Amino acid sequence: MTFFEFQKRFPNEGAALNFIVATKYANGYYCPKCGCFHKGIYRSNKRTKVLHCNNCKSEFSVLAGTIFEGTHLDLRMWLYAINLVIVAKKGISACQLQRELGMKSYKGAWRMLQLIRQAMAKEEYNEVFEAVVEIDETYVGGKPRKSNVHTERETNEKFNKRGRGTSKTPVIGVKVDHSVTYSLGDGKHTNGIESFWAIVKRGVYGVYHHISVDYMQRYMDEFCFRLNHRECDDAFESLVNLAIAA
Ligand SMILES: [Zn+2]
Repeated sequence: MTFFEFQKRFPNEGAALNFIVATKYANGYYCPKCGCFHKGIYRSNKRTKVLHCNNCKSEFSVLAGTIFEGTHLDLRMWLYAINLVIVAKKGISACQLQRELGMKSYKGAWRMLQLIRQAMAKEEYNEVFEAVVEIDETYVGGKPRKSNVHTERETNEKFNKRGRGTSKTPVIGVKVDHSVTYSLGDGKHTNGIESFWAIVKRGVYGVYHHISVDYMQRYMDEFCFRLNHRECDDAFESLVNLAIAA
């Protein structure tokens, strides 16, 4: 979605809220207090972020159980951040997001990105591999932590070493691409997944500069989500669905 398309679709925060509510409660909702089911959406005209229960008269936030829960930010900022993550092929850094959204805090932008990545990781791939698949490994990482390195020689041996034995983090990928034509000999190649590694590495070294081993899986989930949705027109809606799922 371009900036102008986004502006047209979400001209104000109310439009963003209505979109989130309509998506999350499309099939009704259960009251978290008494458990009774509501087919329709009962919202006050003034307090639009609150849902009502007609049975026990309790109220609860429409954003409960979503990544937006408890936010003080305009919901359009969240949706625009989701859009940016989807369209940025190599990813988007917290610094860049902070600038794009005009946020005061770097930490806030970093937390926002982590929550969006967590949502991307929720996507489940239940497909069973039935055809030839590509499996390949790569090594991703920045400089090893100082505490793990004792001498310059050890740094050169461990960090500069390519492939197995390096101190970088190993990442293993599996791909089934129906569009690949296996016409060359026995068809055994890893070109498809190698191009994915190239995108990952351009993102890691060009955008993120350094990825902690602790967060490696989240970053990989982000790159996988973009790869798996690269030809989908509804990637934005798919990610919002994951972001609002409890
Ligand atoms: Zn209730």
